[in-house]
Amino acid sequence: MEAKLDRTTKMHMFYRRSKEHGLKITPQRTAIYEELLKARDHPTADVIYKRMVKKIPNISFDTVNRTLLTFSKIGITNVVEGYGQAKRYDSDMDLHHHFRCIQCGSIIDFQNKEYDNLTVPEEINKQFKVISKKVVLEGLCSKCRKG
Ligand SMILES: [Zn+2]
Ligand SMILES: [Zn+2]
Repeated sequence: MEAKLDRTTKMHMFYRRSKEHGLKITPQRTAIYEELLKARDHPTADVIYKRMVKKIPNISFDTVNRTLLTFSKIGITNVVEGYGQAKRYDSDMDLHHHFRCIQCGSIIDFQNKEYDNLTVPEEINKQFKVISKKVVLEGLCSKCRKG
């Protein structure tokens, strides 16, 4: 299941959005975004930092953390629903849903047309302005189910 937007399109979006928001495109920022694009596991800032440090040994955790927060502010990265734990990032901006394993914490993407078209209950619409809908299923992933 490949993302609908390819890497080149996403890099263009990265350059465009950065420009629009007056964000300088530095080699570090570019490298962090590229790392995030590669990641399919909805990594935390800490995980991204550990991957980055192998390529850019002098990068600091603070830089990675702040950059990821900035990316989500300018709309090129999603923050996955937190559960009181560290924020996890998702570079896949296409509509998709998540399965979260309660045992190992994996967050796995899935697509479902019916979920995409969920209608928001009337009483919720009265109370809130809904801008996006995403289904999160929880349970045991295939690895944990066997174990
Ligand atoms: Zn699991
Ligand atoms: Zn995702």
